[in-house]
Amino acid sequence: MTTVGQALAGARAAGLDKLDADLLLLAARGVEPAALHAARSWLPAHDTDTLPVDVFAHYRWFVERRLAGEPLAYVVGGKEFYGLPLMVDARVLVPRPDTETLVDWALELYPDTAGPARRLLDLGTGSGAIALALKHMRPSWTIDAVDASSAALAVAAANADRLQLPVRLLQGRWFAPVQARYDCIVSNPPYVAEADPHLSALAHEPMSALTAGPDGLDDIRHIVAAAPEYLLPGGHLLLEHGHDQGPAVQALLAATGFDTLAARHDLAGHWRCTAGRWHGAPT
Ligand code: GLN
Repeated sequence: MTTVGQALAGARAAGLDKLDADLLLLAARGVEPAALHAARSWLPAHDTDTLPVDVFAHYRWFVERRLAGEPLAYVVGGKEFYGLPLMVDARVLVPRPDTETLVDWALELYPDTAGPARRLLDLGTGSGAIALALKHMRPSWTIDAVDASSAALAVAAANADRLQLPVRLLQGRWFAPVQARYDCIVSNPPYVAEADPHLSALAHEPMSALTAGPDGLDDIRHIVAAAPEYLLPGGHLLLEHGHDQGPAVQALLAATGFDTLAARHDLAGHWRCTAGRWHGAPT
């Protein structure tokens, strides 16, 4: 017989930090991913409760996976993004809180809840995080979301369906499946350099969602160069990028003819997002 307290202590002794040990125990008891943090307050009062055998077996399996480096979001099967409970697994990158910066920025650029219905494109949507967050905040917008990975799009489709947020999902590389022009194009593309030592910590996530050539800028270069063809006059391109890529991304936007360039910082204070406005006549 194992109690809640003993199970938690065992996981900590095996090397798990307290937060992960707590959240995994709640997940093993069947708490939904989005409710895990709030459910933590249940634990102190139940330290001496006996865990059912199947729950304890589940817990040990979760703990083993987490100790092997699997992201918590994959183990529990979900991650909250912009207040939305998204389902995630190894088919998609785990949505990062930093990416909420990109969502905030698009909402600020187009604060018009009652204004004209906007058209927005999310390139490399993965779990659907950005597109679904924006659809949730701006139901009148028409939102298209592209991913090269059909496996990723299956996750995005399941999330859209479960959250009842209709976005159009298109499969293909960047603009390949796109046929319209948009008020706003947003993307959190792969931007890690292929030889970045930081990648070893991300080994469980899809490499195709993370790396982009020797300097990590291959996909951003492609997106910036092609975007004018898919933007309405005055439309914006908003990009997330690596903490040290801001100057390079800004230079690419300027060289392509974007103006009103601007930057946003992430939660850690890094220059994480850069945007430009396409004033030019449609190309
Ligand atoms: N921000 C992610 C990381 O380094 C990378 C995401 C991406 O390449 N778009 O953890």
